Amino acid sequence: MFHAELITPFAALLERHARERGNKHAYRDNTRAVTYADLYRRTANLAGHIAALGLEPGDHAAVLLPNSVDWIEATIATVRAGGVAVPVSAEATPSEVLYRLTHAGCRVVFTNTALAPVLAELAGELPDLRAVVIVDADHTSALEIHQHALDVLADRAPTTPARDLDDIDVPAFLVYTSGTTGKPKGVQLSCRGMLWVTASCWAPVLGLSESDVVLSPLPLYHSYALNLSVISILATGATIHLMEKYSTTEALRLLETGEFTVMPAVPTIFHYLMEAALAKGSTALNGLRACVSAGAIMPATLNTAFERAFGVPLLDGYGITETSTMVTMNPQGARVMGSCGLPLPGLAVRIVDPASLADCAPGSEGELIVRGPNVMLGYLKNPEETARAVRNGWYHTGDLARADANGFITITGRIKELIIRGGQNIAPAEIEEVVLGLESVADCAVAALPDSQLGEVPGLFVVPRGPDFDPAEVLAHCRKHLSSYKVPASVHVIAEVPRTGSGKVIRFKLKEMVAD
Ligand code: AMP
Repeated sequence: MFHAELITPFAALLERHARERGNKHAYRDNTRAVTYADLYRRTANLAGHIAALGLEPGDHAAVLLPNSVDWIEATIATVRAGGVAVPVSAEATPSEVLYRLTHAGCRVVFTNTALAPVLAELAGELPDLRAVVIVDADHTSALEIHQHALDVLADRAPTTPARDLDDIDVPAFLVYTSGTTGKPKGVQLSCRGMLWVTASCWAPVLGLSESDVVLSPLPLYHSYALNLSVISILATGATIHLMEKYSTTEALRLLETGEFTVMPAVPTIFHYLMEAALAKGSTALNGLRACVSAGAIMPATLNTAFERAFGVPLLDGYGITETSTMVTMNPQGARVMGSCGLPLPGLAVRIVDPASLADCAPGSEGELIVRGPNVMLGYLKNPEETARAVRNGWYHTGDLARADANGFITITGRIKELIIRGGQNIAPAEIEEVVLGLESVADCAVAALPDSQLGEVPGLFVVPRGPDFDPAEVLAHCRKHLSSYKVPASVHVIAEVPRTGSGKVIRFKLKEMVAD
């Protein structure tokens, strides 16, 4: 059943929870927790203060923080101020941070003392920035931009009240995703689109409600966690424990407390958890009623082995940033292992020939396209890519899929060339751009190479400029300019990059070179 009552402005949801379950913990991390009553009050204060500091409706505010309750308060406050929250990984390199902050023209940045030096370094290149809110109050940093302590703002009534817009169709989140051109694209998402996923998927299909206590090991800057670990909690009144970073030992320790009912993660995490639990001889996940997997293909063998080991359903769902996440989800009843489930009720999903757009017969492979209320508002400042991705309301996913006679969908690959390393997306072109910045590299290309632990990893193929080429130098250069998960797992010297007549890299030929 569709939960229409959950599609309402954040302020109304928070007010309802503050009234009905004010003393209940909403979000927790290792250092603190916030109740629904405090979340309602503190995010209103914070929203009023950042509006007074110059965040106008529609302006962007970056959240450059690790997973934490602070992250949650900053994000919700931005939306309550009428702004657009821009999650930025706390592990992003300075150039990745700079790209996002300048592309979105961020007016406000929420960060901490550990990350403030990155901003201080970039400050001269951020003309739009008006204020920096530091989450740990006792800060001393070299930043010249006006700084404020989050705790002080959140606890003090502002002179300007939170805007709390009634319009939930405007951009509220800007989530950067890897693009085929190598430059990340800013996906504009609305509160309606995000809440619609809770209303049609997490609440009715997963059964998420105020009686759930969720354990989340996911990075909050990714759309999957933003949707499930942040917004669906706020919508349903559940409680969540946010791990700052995934660690198998810590996840098992937390699960052994028996207090958690639901855990979302990516296939690699379920693999690690299962291996560790089996090695310890402990397979009891007391209290857990369901696990959710998304972000990458969940092998049927892993799904079956996990459920056999733990006796807990592991439900695979298929989500994309551009569709505010979920497109399909597995039901809790009869399922097909290896399938990512059924299209969400209310979505139109087709599998078509990518060229002719003719529908494929059940069982045959084609591109999955989707239309519905969760499709993005568009890419920020990129009408060409938006028009290419969304045609007549249909979002063209670039993923290859098959449907069985009962409508169960299986993702078989992707037309897009993203490399998914343990659930994290990497665009080959982004690595290539960095590597081509080196004098010693004449040409290069990146291809996904299979990896038994992470699914796939980027392999770098280089055409050196001279005989003194040093792979270690390339890797050091990558480490400097790319997040660690994007650093190639291996470097291979080749004589020429194979390309099509129109100049596109033929990546499968690169893979064959390694297989030989
Ligand atoms: P992102 O926009 O970063 O969320 O990445 C979306 C992509 O992740 C999709 O286009 C798929 O290629 C992949 N993906 C997400 N969920 C699944 C799943 N359950 N099975 C297979 N691939 C998935």
